[in-house]
Formats: sequence, structure tokens, C-alpha cells
Amino acid sequence: MVSRQHKLQRAAKIHLFQRAMITYWQQNGRHELPWRKTTSAWNILLAEVLLRKTTSAQAAAVYESLAPYSPAEIVGMDQAALAGLLQPLGIHQVRAKQLQQIAQAVIDSGGTVLESDAALRALPGVGRYISNSVRCCAFGVPAPAMDTNLIRVMNRVFGWTSHRKRPREDRKLWQCAEALVPDDMPREFNWGMLDFAAAICTQRKPKCEQCPINEICTYYAANRQVQALEMAE
Ligand code: SF4
Repeated sequence: MVSRQHKLQRAAKIHLFQRAMITYWQQNGRHELPWRKTTSAWNILLAEVLLRKTTSAQAAAVYESLAPYSPAEIVGMDQAALAGLLQPLGIHQVRAKQLQQIAQAVIDSGGTVLESDAALRALPGVGRYISNSVRCCAFGVPAPAMDTNLIRVMNRVFGWTSHRKRPREDRKLWQCAEALVPDDMPREFNWGMLDFAAAICTQRKPKCEQCPINEICTYYAANRQVQALEMAE
């Protein structure tokens, strides 16, 4: 049974982690990304569709060219022409078709599809990550953006891991991620997390010595212990 003290320690660690990610966003976040300057659910969903299997730098230019268009205008575009605009991102024909299907669903629902987790996840190419991202960034819902980066950071900082072949589909891991997102400033937390994982807690050679949360990191503590043992030998 988990002791009360253990629960308190875990809650305190989560609190420190939350504040550190928000501070990271405020001080070092990629504020220039255009989809972070809007609370339009449609534009955020558009950005997420563009961001699949590509980098934010590549997606940004295409986003700027498509963001002015309404869902009705996207539906009205010639699909081949839309695919041409999406070509720099790859899988452009699939992306164009899905984008028009999504835009049509937004029109048909009068926009309500953008507010519902179930409705968003019923859209083509939209899973839990995109649904959470849209609802968090547009409406402030405290939902985690759990991608491979957050999974890595959770594993290192908290020791939380999944034995599933596809950790992103692990319900328990999603519950862990949900416990991390604060009710206040969930957008800033998620953005800070994404930027922190991309710049500091990188997959290879994490920058532990300059990391603002190394004092609470399980991975860092374990490494320090190994180093101390090696020096003592
Ligand atoms: S101390 Fe290292 S492993 Fe831990 S969160 Fe920071 S960068 Fe990641």
C-alpha cells in the first residue's frame, strides 16, 4: 500500500515539475510558433494536422499559408491544389484529403466537434494527442500532450514506464500524464514540456547539468550514484 508520506512526496514532486515546466515556457519557450499565438480551435487543429510526421519549422511555413482560410474555404479548394500546398510536409495527398474531411465535419457540426474529445477523435487522423492539444490550447482543458517526448521525460523524472509495445496507447501511462497537468496554466505547462524535452531532456545526451529539475530527477540521481560508486573504486 502506498504510504501517506509517499503520496505527499509524489504530490510535491509533481508540483515542482509543473512549476518548472511553466517557468521553462516563460523563459525559454518557442513563443514564435504561430499556432501558439492563437486560441482558435480550428487553427490549432490545422496546425496539429500539419505537424504530424514533420518538424515544427517545416509546418510553420505551410501553416502561415493555410491559417487565413476558413473550414469552408478549405473544403472549397481543389484537392490537388491543396495537396500541392502541403507537399513540403510529405504524405500530402492523404493530408489534403483528411484536412478537407475534417473541415467538412467542423462545418457540419457548427464547430462543436472541436470541443468534444470523442468527436475530435472520430475525425480522420486525429488521436488522443491531437484532441488533447486542441482542447488544451483552445479551451484551457488540462489534458496532457503525451507524445514520445513526454513519455521519455516521465520515465526519467518519475521512473514511470510502460511495458506495452505502444506506450502511447497505454491507458495507465495516460493517467500518469493526466496527473501532471496543472489546472492553472495547462497550455503553458504543455508548451514548456514540449520545448524542454526538445532542448534539454533530449533523447540522446540529455543536458542534465544545466537542467532546472535535476534535483528531482530519478534518472539523474541514479547516474550520480553510479558515478560516485565508480569514483570510490
Ligand atoms: S536531469 Fe537529465 S534526465 Fe533528468 S529531466 Fe533533466 S535533462 Fe532529463
